[in-house]
Amino acid sequence: MVSCSPEGAPAARRHDFAAGQAPLPQPVLRQVQRDILDWQGHGRSVLDLAFTTEDFRGIARRAQESLSRLLKLPPAYHVLFLQGGAYAHFALTAMNLMGRVRSADYVITGHWSSRAASEAARYGVVRIAATAAPFGFCRIPRECEWRLDPSAAYCHLTSNETANGLQFHWTPESAAVPLVADLTSDFLTRPLDIAKYGLVYASAQKNAGIAGLTVVIVRDDLLERALDTTPLVFNYGQQAQDGSRVNTPPTFGVYVAALMFEWMEAAGGLAVLGDAGRRKAATIYGVIDQDDYYRCPVLPADRSQVSICFRLPRPADEQDFLAEAARNGLCNLQGHTLRGGIRACLYNAVTDEDAEALAAFMQYFSRRRRSGRRSRHLS
Ligand SMILES: *Cc1c(COP(=O)(O)O)cnc(C)c1O
Repeated sequence: MVSCSPEGAPAARRHDFAAGQAPLPQPVLRQVQRDILDWQGHGRSVLDLAFTTEDFRGIARRAQESLSRLLKLPPAYHVLFLQGGAYAHFALTAMNLMGRVRSADYVITGHWSSRAASEAARYGVVRIAATAAPFGFCRIPRECEWRLDPSAAYCHLTSNETANGLQFHWTPESAAVPLVADLTSDFLTRPLDIAKYGLVYASAQKNAGIAGLTVVIVRDDLLERALDTTPLVFNYGQQAQDGSRVNTPPTFGVYVAALMFEWMEAAGGLAVLGDAGRRKAATIYGVIDQDDYYRCPVLPADRSQVSICFRLPRPADEQDFLAEAARNGLCNLQGHTLRGGIRACLYNAVTDEDAEALAAFMQYFSRRRRSGRRSRHLS
């Protein structure tokens, strides 16, 4: 991990591009700070609200209602606030949805969809309906290239491949079976046509708050298919029936999510956030495309607006880039541990100013490297 201030001196302005935990917006942090000491003037901390109280139910209701407004959620869906993280729900979606069919289709586009498929394979047959492996995970297979099984229990995709920098910019239309998506890294960063999905899930710590909460949104007709071996606390049907209170839910995570959803509504909703996301991404890709010092291997049509992955000429250049960026207050730019390179995550709390600071640093760094090389040649 690159430290942001190696000499212990605070950077003039810190710009955080972490993949997760993602930075939280300042107004949300300030509200959390107040409520930890004195929740809404009740003289007690929000941290110790019992989940059975009407106070906590009110918080969960606010979270659920705000999220439903953001997504324009149709009435046929349940919102669940569960634990486990997306990695647990790779297995749990399979346990809850495989049913008697015991076979599901997976679309493999990179690191996280591969993990999802491996976990699901413990509970049934996993068919690979399409894979980006032959394209080096730099291009998403088009829907006409998918080989779907019409009798599959569901078809699973990963909307944004956080480690590879690929993102779906379209929603499959022809899936005759319920579409299931891991939305963890682009949840609520742009409009979502939820009616096209049977089930979506997302860990909260990337766009919807803090670690410990997983949001699951499921269409009611899919709530009756769980395998008998599914743990009760992870049985989506049971949790839907009990308002996500089969056991203690991640109460603080639900509280922070409520603040995040309301902050997004105040920001203008998903269309506005999507436009801002496109603008921030264009700032960084603009530098990559104009400056041949940087290279993004992903097909432009499939590039992620949220996880921008790029390379420099040599790994040693990337190490220098990361260290100097950190000294300039540009933090957490290292690529995924298994893939290396540079990665800038542009979640909702990352501002235009953050993206512009990174773009300016990239231009400065490559210019200096070029003139450095030239002066070495001259001497
Ligand atoms: C981060 C991430 C995960 C893993 O989330 P956990 O909360 O660590 O389980 C899964 N899928 C995607 C797309 C991610 O970005």
